[in-house]
Amino acid sequence: MKIIDLKITPVTVPMEAPLRWSMGVETGTTRGILQLYTDDGIVGLGETYGGNAIEHAIEIAKPYILGLDPLETVALMHKLNVFCISYESAVPTVVRAGIEMACLDAAGKALNRPVCSLLGGKVRDRIETAAYVFYRYGSQEGDVPPVTTPEDILRHAENLVRKHGFRVLKLKGGVMPPEEELRALELLRERFPEAPLRWDPNAAWSVETSIRILRKMQRAGIELEYIEDPTWNLEGCSQVRKSIDDIPLATNMCLVAWDQLAPGIRMRSVDIILSDVHFWGGFRQNQKMMAVCEAFQLGVGMHSDRELGLSTAAMLHLAAASPYLSYAIDSHYHDQVDDILTQPFVYREGFFEVPTGPGLGVEVDWDKVGRYHEAYMKAGQVNEFYDPWRPQWVPALPIF
Ligand code: MG
Repeated sequence: MKIIDLKITPVTVPMEAPLRWSMGVETGTTRGILQLYTDDGIVGLGETYGGNAIEHAIEIAKPYILGLDPLETVALMHKLNVFCISYESAVPTVVRAGIEMACLDAAGKALNRPVCSLLGGKVRDRIETAAYVFYRYGSQEGDVPPVTTPEDILRHAENLVRKHGFRVLKLKGGVMPPEEELRALELLRERFPEAPLRWDPNAAWSVETSIRILRKMQRAGIELEYIEDPTWNLEGCSQVRKSIDDIPLATNMCLVAWDQLAPGIRMRSVDIILSDVHFWGGFRQNQKMMAVCEAFQLGVGMHSDRELGLSTAAMLHLAAASPYLSYAIDSHYHDQVDDILTQPFVYREGFFEVPTGPGLGVEVDWDKVGRYHEAYMKAGQVNEFYDPWRPQWVPALPIF
């Protein structure tokens, strides 16, 4: 089986309501749907980021992968990695990850095996997912109210738990002053005394604020499963960890690349690394990173970056084939109004089931791809580093 062509279709799926985070607003999910054609008629599906630069990167990558066997992803990624020096990359990590995804979907379809089988086999059939609880603006149509106060956060979390059965709660912070967010956390703790709680300010806090607010939280008797990226970079996280050594510190911002692993471990910057199919450059790179974490006894979870159904399937296959991953994964799935799959995923008691069909085990609804491609063409790429409600605001770190 040989690769004969690769196509990308950018789509934008809106959020139920605009989600706020420390550096802007997520109004939707822009992704590139990949179709990888093979000489025996199989089409592998993958998902990467969307936008003009991504389309250009696909064109650059294409000549190097034509004629290769999609099952041989190490050889294939070796070719694409040639273009990657840490400060410059012709084929960005997220694109390499999407190509590898499409290759393993094609290979799985050819061999009649699910992707998790090609990654070594699954050790679990369903994957637990955390309730991602965001501050948000109200929807444009007015049918979804804003989430602004601590009481709103509690109500929103209660709705999510009722609807999807989540056991683990994650407060997306870095939006309101930290004392106000701490009040929201207190309400969540009172209402859900047994729930593992995460707090993710996306590096909005200075080192001093991080230490002050985490100590205050401890005095209030609130225990966290982990604090995620309280402050910026390996040095900042290392300083926070030195002062607050009894709350696990997780990251999907400060340690996100292969060449940050050794310094991050030497500096003892983090306790838990959040894997990410795209950030880390695909399944194999995540597996390599997890092996390092296991050797150095760092925890492993999984980050969500507003993925659609193909990447969600990829996350579930990776999580299923990663025995060392021990935390419930994150997902934006419940915040997006729709998906591009014929059968969107459904939470059952806070879990997603790992697809069992060949390849990624999911099918794309091409009518929906067409519809959301039109939305992309109309509005362009979603820029989450911007707040349309505060057009002059610039998110300079630290914010608090
Ligand atoms: Mg995060």
